[in-house]
Amino acid sequence: MDIHEYQAKEILARFGVPVPRGGLAYSPEQAGYRARELGGSAWVVKAQIHSGGRGAAGGVKLCKTPDEVHAFAATLFGKQLVTKQTDANGKGVYRVWVEGASDIAQELYLGFVLDRKSERIMIVASAHGGMEIEDLADSDPNSLRRMTIDPAVGLSEFQARELAFQLGLQGGQVAQMVTTLRACYRAYRDLDAVMVEINPLVITHSGDLVALDAKMSFDTNALFRQSQIAELRDRSQEDPRESTAGDHGLSYVGLDGDIGCIINGAGLAMATMDMIKLAGGEPANFLDIGGGASPERVVRAFRTVLADGNVSVILVNIFAGINRCDWVAQGVVQAYKEVGLTIPVVVRLAGTNVEEGKAIIDSSGLPLISADTLAEAAAAAVASRPKPATHKAA
Ligand code: GDP
Ligand code: MN
Repeated sequence: MDIHEYQAKEILARFGVPVPRGGLAYSPEQAGYRARELGGSAWVVKAQIHSGGRGAAGGVKLCKTPDEVHAFAATLFGKQLVTKQTDANGKGVYRVWVEGASDIAQELYLGFVLDRKSERIMIVASAHGGMEIEDLADSDPNSLRRMTIDPAVGLSEFQARELAFQLGLQGGQVAQMVTTLRACYRAYRDLDAVMVEINPLVITHSGDLVALDAKMSFDTNALFRQSQIAELRDRSQEDPRESTAGDHGLSYVGLDGDIGCIINGAGLAMATMDMIKLAGGEPANFLDIGGGASPERVVRAFRTVLADGNVSVILVNIFAGINRCDWVAQGVVQAYKEVGLTIPVVVRLAGTNVEEGKAIIDSSGLPLISADTLAEAAAAAVASRPKPATHKAA
């Protein structure tokens, strides 16, 4: 689960990361007021959306007067901001963060991620942060410093100091960097984060370290024990198809194609999407109905997939272990009747109670297309599309 920049800054500040003073606004008037309240002579106005790349997309601006803050905020509110990291629809701006501007001498990059290979939290850092960090990863990957943290020891001071030296920091900045690194690590570990990123972490002209941007992402499976984090969820930033599916216990990810997928098991879902591509089609979604799926659950899966207007054919692929093919088949038949399906449905069943399942499909009298193998199912789905694939993304 992602949170907003201002929320991440508030959390990291609690752990000891230095952040600029700022205030949140829900309207242009409030943004102007926040600037006056903060005082000073320059402010940065930042669209709060669950995406980076706002600077390059016109979502961040340095303003010189409270009126300018008000005016720029007015252009942001209600806008769908499209960045390099969002899809073509962008993300809606409903909150704006106003903070006192920092004067920047140098921009660093700091990221904490889970390194699956070493099974440890890894710090990725660079002395050349800012908006072009992704280009840097391509053009000069050696300039990225990496360091893994031993979970039994935590991030030790000497390790943090070593990284500070590697980044070329000097004098009092080294101690500030050690504080910042250890604070980020503790926040990551204590709050079940999966990602903490500060880009840029700046050195100001007076020589201080400040986190100008902050991004945190959390392990959804740990939210049950992180209620304060769970409360920070902002549904306006989520794909409505995905959040509704999540409410029904379905694991769904919306994609751009037109072949709707209803599968059991994440691995089989991935394999099915690959097979669809191989057969020349485009999947409309990833959907794992999970183990022990009742007919009702299968019906919900149909409704979820059909909520996407691009879907022109549905492929049901079940390899039943814990699941039962007859239940899934009942769900398919029920969905056909309840939802009033008008598009082709390809069904491939294998595993537990497969004969009973097939019998239900065959005797249903519905125009369901049966397939025996995954390859056949994918080919049948591609062949039965009534219209050529339309792609939402440019
Ligand atoms: P992102 O593009 O979504 O990652 O948004 P950032 O918060 O990183 O802001 C984008 C860029 O705006 C930063 O890389 C900075 O160069 C610039 N910026 C942000 N805050 C300030 C500030 O206080 N002063 C100045 N001069 N520039 C800022
Ligand atoms: Mn940034």
